[in-house]
Amino acid sequence: MRVGNSLENRYSSYRVGEDICVKCGSQKYCVKHHVTYVPEFIIPLCRSCHMKIHAYPKEHPNFIKHTMQERDHFYFLKEQAERELMYKRLKI
Ligand SMILES: [Zn+2]
Ligand SMILES: [Zn+2]
Repeated sequence: MRVGNSLENRYSSYRVGEDICVKCGSQKYCVKHHVTYVPEFIIPLCRSCHMKIHAYPKEHPNFIKHTMQERDHFYFLKEQAERELMYKRLKI
């Protein structure tokens, strides 16, 4: 009997090698993390490294290089763009 369809295998094939945690090399449960927003620079991090970086940003200066204002502005623009797209679809 082959055990090729374990949850782990399915997960890694779903992620097709593009998401490997740049900190520890884990391929599991990677999330996209913003290093900078302007220009947008995104790196894959596993969930536990991502949590550590956000919990202790001062210990990981290379992983968070944006200010809170830049982040807020980025999401403000993103929300605005999404709203405009929605209006366009609804033809308002
Ligand atoms: Zn990691
Ligand atoms: Zn993050």
